[in-house]
Amino acid sequence: MVNFQKLKNTGKQTANLQLVKQTNLALIFNLIYKQGSVSRAELAQRTRLSPTTVSSLIEELLRKGVVIESGAGKTTTSGRKPIMIEINAVGCYIVTFEIIEDGFCCSLYDLLCRLIDEQKYGISDFEGLGRILTEAIEAILSKHGIQQNKLLGISIGVPGLINQEECRVYSSTVVPIRNDNDFCRQIKEKLKDIPVFLENESYFCAYAEKEFGIESDVKNLIFIDINIGIGAGIIMDGNMFRGTHGMAGEVGHVSIDMNGPKCKCGNRGCLETMSSIPAMVQKIVFAIMSGRETIIKGIIGNDLNKINLDVIKYAIDNKDGLAMDIMDEIAEKLAFGTNNVINLFNPQVVVFGGEIVKLGDVFLNSIKKHLSYIELKPNINLVGIRYSSLSSNAVNLGGAKYTLDNAFKTPGLLSRGTFQIL
Ligand SMILES: [Zn+2]
Repeated sequence: MVNFQKLKNTGKQTANLQLVKQTNLALIFNLIYKQGSVSRAELAQRTRLSPTTVSSLIEELLRKGVVIESGAGKTTTSGRKPIMIEINAVGCYIVTFEIIEDGFCCSLYDLLCRLIDEQKYGISDFEGLGRILTEAIEAILSKHGIQQNKLLGISIGVPGLINQEECRVYSSTVVPIRNDNDFCRQIKEKLKDIPVFLENESYFCAYAEKEFGIESDVKNLIFIDINIGIGAGIIMDGNMFRGTHGMAGEVGHVSIDMNGPKCKCGNRGCLETMSSIPAMVQKIVFAIMSGRETIIKGIIGNDLNKINLDVIKYAIDNKDGLAMDIMDEIAEKLAFGTNNVINLFNPQVVVFGGEIVKLGDVFLNSIKKHLSYIELKPNINLVGIRYSSLSSNAVNLGGAKYTLDNAFKTPGLLSRGTFQIL
């Protein structure tokens, strides 16, 4: 946690003043968000900032239009009733992106992280991503009559390794974005230094679960995202854990078998090669080709390419022997990988998300069963294991809240004209 008192006292240099200002703006804004309605005096009391500092920060937030005065609050004394401050939900907006294999989802949120609109686009030219995303931002703002200076920030969730220093994608096995694709810089140039938060998509999912999931005040959470690949977002002590180079959470490349099949990363027996959705589909294909009977054959005819999670789910619901066996085998492998993660991080809860949740409770219960055989025994009842509780797009919801929590801390916002260093 930042020592704000210490930060206040180090304000001799402009850089430090700017940091103090950004940090305090974020602190005040986030407290108003959490409280819903709060007075200046209460904010001063809770932040230990001076009433004068709080007033000047509130003035700035009022000028920007991101908070409003909502009338007189209650008082226990006979003195003047305090003016309460609330978030102005329509004072600014956030645009979020989830980049997928062949396109992206662009969402617009208000300052209370309520979804206003969501647009899906197909894309073939990932080289032109910066221009394409900028056009999508302009289109969604224009559709709702929102001026560009009302944009607080942008989040972009990508299934890949992220170079945080340069705001680029190192590499991705899912989307064809090269490491020299400078799309974030292009967006910032076009939209006047707008804060852009580029993250691995699983990080945003984990953040969404922390902020909007079913546990209250969760501090340590692992979100394991199972789609074509397997990734994870890690929340430690309430913060996103990226590791030294921003590549923590590569659970898909944790090996569960040193003699297992070779993975494209170079390792052997990676969780991703053994228990991702394509791995499950491939196992079913091999079993059918080996002559095993299954109701799946009746659904797909002779076209093995038609096997997908919906087909597998149908077979499981009908107690198909082959589908049940392979589901249980995949669940066992996932349990081994998950157990490694639990032993490393000792989280409060492990959340499974991604397309895999389509398989329903029978799959989750199978993972729990296998985990119970191999977990350190105290963990069995202490570590929660569940599916994601978020029905809406978790990548974009997490990205929106992350942007809201961090946009005030970025130099970009202060240099955009509306926010000034006092
Ligand atoms: Zn690997």
